[in-house]
Amino acid sequence: MTATVIDGKAFAAKVRAQVAAHVARLKEENGITPGLAVVLVGEDPASQVYVRNKGVQTHEAGMNSFEHKLSADTSEPDLLALIATLNADPAVHGILVQLPLPKHLDSDLVINSINPAKDVDGFHISNVGLLGTGQKSMVPCTPLGCLMMLRDHHGSLAGMNAVVVGRSNIVGKPMAQLLLGDSCTVTIAHSRTKDLAEVCRRADILVAAVGRPEMVPGDWVKPGATVIDVGINRIEKDGKVKLVGDVHYESAAAVAGAITPVPGGVGPMTIACLLANTLTACCRANGLAEPEGLTA
Ligand code: NDP
Repeated sequence: MTATVIDGKAFAAKVRAQVAAHVARLKEENGITPGLAVVLVGEDPASQVYVRNKGVQTHEAGMNSFEHKLSADTSEPDLLALIATLNADPAVHGILVQLPLPKHLDSDLVINSINPAKDVDGFHISNVGLLGTGQKSMVPCTPLGCLMMLRDHHGSLAGMNAVVVGRSNIVGKPMAQLLLGDSCTVTIAHSRTKDLAEVCRRADILVAAVGRPEMVPGDWVKPGATVIDVGINRIEKDGKVKLVGDVHYESAAAVAGAITPVPGGVGPMTIACLLANTLTACCRANGLAEPEGLTA
């Protein structure tokens, strides 16, 4: 079997176009422009690239982008004061604090100071609780993107066996909650899981969010399964830097029914879902109908 390639790049472009069309309608019919504030503390090169991309795509979707670049030695009270200002600003519907923060700043404290209704990353403890109890919340962007691709590929996910490898707060756990919400039978695996290969072989849906290059080989994949590879790892191959996932793509694609590539799979969906979450937050803040198909 050769797997169907789930094209995250094309799907993300579709999501962004859907967001842009809804934003245009909001402007025309309601005179409202959604706004996303991104806060970057320090000069981490990867974070700077992410923030720049977010700004560009926010503008392209017709939204306002407010970038706040703070020096690496910014004090916690100063950062909290900025977030309080953004919480109170009616032009700001989404707030994202780029992680990781410098070590002297308490990430949990900072994230939990964001108004949960504006927490477009879905990391605030209130949103975590709302998602866990099946209530309306802001959903973390990467797992939301994975869910959208799975729904698009399968339609209903009800009754499918899903295995999520990785239990981080930003990917693994919310991914498992979302799959449970769609009535999958969910197993969460991690570094202490016994017989991981055997656990993975039971999955109709296998999500790898581990951070270990090409860790999941094809013989861990059930024939016909759908494989979602969240991993983004830079490795050196033949003297060149190459981007690979947590799944060994060639061997897995030979067995799976469908698979996301790296790059061009889950990655592009993350920013698309950030835009979708900002639009959703804006609609909720204004008591308007939420965009269809862009929330969990
Ligand atoms: P974390 O490091 O926070 O979590 C990794 C998880 O993998 C942990 O739960 C860990 O288990 C588990 N793990 C580690 N080694 C093994 C192993 N040998 N066997 C089984 N489980 C293992 O990573 P993240 O969740 O933040 O990210 C995961 C990957 O996804 C990374 O490659 C990251 O770059 C990528 N990513 C991609 C995004 C995108 O936009 N596409 C966005 C976010 C992340 P334990 O808890 O027991 O330590």
